[in-house]
Amino acid sequence: MNSIKPYLRLAGLEPLVVRPETNFVNIGERTNVTGSKMFARLIRENKYEEALSVARQQVENGAQIIDVNMDDALLDGVHAMTTFLNLVQSEPDIARIPIMIDSSKFEIIEAGLKCVQGKCIVNSISMKEGEEKFIREANICRLFGAAVVVMAFDEVGQADTLERKVEICTRAYKILTEKVGFDPQDIIFDPNIFAIATGLEEHNNYGVDFIEATRIIKQRMPLAKISGGVSNLSFSFRGNDHVREAMHSVFLFHAIKAGMDMGIVNAGQLVVYDEIEPLLRELCEDVIMNRNNDNNEATEKLINFAETVKAKGKAIVKDEAWRNETVEARLTHALINGITDYIDTDTEEARQKYPRPLDVIEGPLMDGMNVVGDLFGAGKMFLPQVVKSARVMKKSVAWLTPYIEEEKKNNPLARQGNAPKILLATVKGDVHDIGKNIVGVVLGCNGYDIIDLGVMVPADKILETAQKEKADIIGLSGLITPSLDEMVHVAHEMKRRGMLQPLLIGGATTSRMHTAVKIAQQYDNGVVHVLDASRSVTVAGTLLNNENKQKFLQDINVEYEKLRDDFQRKRAIKQYIDFPAAQKNKVPVDWDNFEPVVPKFTGTKVFDSVDLELLSHYIDWGPFFIAWELGGKFPQLLEDAVIGKEATKLYHDAKALLQKIISEKWLTAKAVIAFYEANTDGADTIVVKCEIAGTKTAFEEHRLETIRQQIKKAPGQPNFSLADFIAPASTGKKDYIGAFSVTIDGIEEHLQRFQREHDDYNKIMLQALADRLAEAFAEWLHEQVRTNYWGYSSGEKLSVEGMIKEDYTGIRPAPGYPACPDHTEKYKLFTLLGGEDATGIHLTESLAMYPASSVCGWYFSHPQSQYFGVGKIKDDQLQDYAKRKEMPIEDITRWLRPILEDEA
Ligand code: SAH
Repeated sequence: MNSIKPYLRLAGLEPLVVRPETNFVNIGERTNVTGSKMFARLIRENKYEEALSVARQQVENGAQIIDVNMDDALLDGVHAMTTFLNLVQSEPDIARIPIMIDSSKFEIIEAGLKCVQGKCIVNSISMKEGEEKFIREANICRLFGAAVVVMAFDEVGQADTLERKVEICTRAYKILTEKVGFDPQDIIFDPNIFAIATGLEEHNNYGVDFIEATRIIKQRMPLAKISGGVSNLSFSFRGNDHVREAMHSVFLFHAIKAGMDMGIVNAGQLVVYDEIEPLLRELCEDVIMNRNNDNNEATEKLINFAETVKAKGKAIVKDEAWRNETVEARLTHALINGITDYIDTDTEEARQKYPRPLDVIEGPLMDGMNVVGDLFGAGKMFLPQVVKSARVMKKSVAWLTPYIEEEKKNNPLARQGNAPKILLATVKGDVHDIGKNIVGVVLGCNGYDIIDLGVMVPADKILETAQKEKADIIGLSGLITPSLDEMVHVAHEMKRRGMLQPLLIGGATTSRMHTAVKIAQQYDNGVVHVLDASRSVTVAGTLLNNENKQKFLQDINVEYEKLRDDFQRKRAIKQYIDFPAAQKNKVPVDWDNFEPVVPKFTGTKVFDSVDLELLSHYIDWGPFFIAWELGGKFPQLLEDAVIGKEATKLYHDAKALLQKIISEKWLTAKAVIAFYEANTDGADTIVVKCEIAGTKTAFEEHRLETIRQQIKKAPGQPNFSLADFIAPASTGKKDYIGAFSVTIDGIEEHLQRFQREHDDYNKIMLQALADRLAEAFAEWLHEQVRTNYWGYSSGEKLSVEGMIKEDYTGIRPAPGYPACPDHTEKYKLFTLLGGEDATGIHLTESLAMYPASSVCGWYFSHPQSQYFGVGKIKDDQLQDYAKRKEMPIEDITRWLRPILEDEA
């Protein structure tokens, strides 16, 4: 008897058998709400008939399987999957072919499994959340008789290297065949196709990794199949189908040769490998096979080529269709898409059409901005897009302003804009304002009149201006801990002045807890902590609506009351020990067996102008995206289904501006480092020995005071102080401490230029990049110190990722941060670094550093040194600390309040 051959046998109404000689199987991708905007819209609007026609087209274009995906936050996925698949089953021309049920939610997959006839494929299951879940889901698939796609994903994450791809697939294969009883031919691996040519070198080999993994997996597990989502590959060329199609064909040409059996593609759009124009084909080959690609050379070439096709291609012609619409529609289009190219002409046309210039603002511009606001509110537009929209709005308003002024002159009674006013300021002593600028732009887009007083604004000025200008809301921003106290002061002053406006609190150092416990208590007419720019719109809207305002503030009061309770309760639970006991429980360091490394010099060394290009390679991009409210892990977020597209655009814009900053030398990177002999007094003071200039024999002492954790620790856990990482004088060993400050100087004139050009997008971008460069500078400098100037890790070989993860030996704690929260120690730090002149960094009255893109800190080399938070301390340590610092206890309390009271 002939046994049944072990082939993957799928079926719709008709069978599809994948034999060794079978050609590549196309899986239609258009019936996927995450990949096709049109399909998503049809489903959302319940237009299932039209949605079916998308499926039909896929079949007609040669799809042999159709992938159906309903993973959209705005959809009930189970319902949509059930409805759509049930309809498909009654359309013989579609139901003829097998279905691939595609979802990252297993409940949607189960719903799909209940609908399909024949033998389908489940896409996908994985070991992402462990073996147990994997086995359970695989069992269900097997019971339904489905084949499965297994994503190369495990508890650690998605497989991105050749080794991990092979390892995970092998492990999954073993489990499925040995524990679940799956037929090997029913297992389809998806070893992850990632985007290449993103500009990041670490992505360049993704194509090769997939192809090689395919080859090895097929050798080891010949019956299993390989599939993948092909369009991911060319993600960086979105909008340029010509290049994308060529990349897909070239990729498949190689992947199929290596053993790839099937793939999710747009079946109507695959070009024949041999018909690709030779130059483009070669560029694609280089990029995909990662050849001739040192320093992204091949990538750059393909990008340049893509620009030329774009310039002559059809895409532009199609894109310009909006130019034929009415002026109102054009203004809306420009606002939503952030296009400034025609804004002056269009605004002028509208001005001539409308009776008054103000009508243009209140009419078409506001209508357009309302759309932007709605899309942003619904999570369909992201912060960078909104800021670009604002740029369009501002340029248009700038065009109209002279006409509005003119009208006012001729007719003083002319109607004025009557938008609600919001006053924003960064408080006294603080210099940071990216967050505030973003909030201002976003609120401005939503029709508010923004009065931005800038940075370092004293309370009196804020409140006087608010009264004079009749501001409807006041918003305060701050980055460093002393600003918290300043905000308390502003709130207090508002009450004293009998003000009525609500007060918004925002900025990196602020928290709901601190707002509830400290600020809200000072002022009765509404204090609201606002988490981010997108929240600020709803909050402002609610506060300005008399009906909703009271209820909203009552709710906030209840919430803050609860926070205050929690705060008290938590404080009561925490146990503290006496200061002498804490000092005794210091970090155990075996000084006898430690030889401190001697730095190459003592004293200071200044770096006048470090190459920005060099520093740019040390940038940690994660915080950059956070500044733009696009959270996620970098670089994965560039490929995120929701924010990926905008994040990628933002990243490209950032890289372009960064290139300009570097090549046109906009900014200067200045730094100073210093090393000194140092020992502790055996307790919490680090005594630094500093040569009196030129004497070689005369020294002066600087006493650095540290704060020690006083919370009761679990047995075996020390009460940390930074002093523990320096050898006590009693050991007789000469130890050292280092110090540094870095700054990125020269931003001001460029910010002013962008301001004049009404270009908030580039202004915020520049600020964010300068911050990144300052942190990158600190990273680079620290590496130089470890490997050279101090040289205690001279053999270190760490990648930038490794440095960002802090895999190095030693730390660089920054005064004002949790291990050394006392900002006033910065005075000593700056003295040891040769004063403010060394780099031109100026300390404000709150000890913020100006220019804002500056970083400073101490260097500790001991391998046991680590970051920690000192937390709350008790009165006995506070008294002792004040005595050691020779400062009145009230001053110390003022500087350390957020830590002392443990509320930050
Ligand atoms: N890669 C990040 C690094 C900045 S945050 C970026 O680019 O933004 C890390 C820095 O904050 C550290 O280098 C240190 O200077 C400071 N820091 C972090 N935790 C600290 C702590 N507990 N005590 C003191 N300083 C700390």
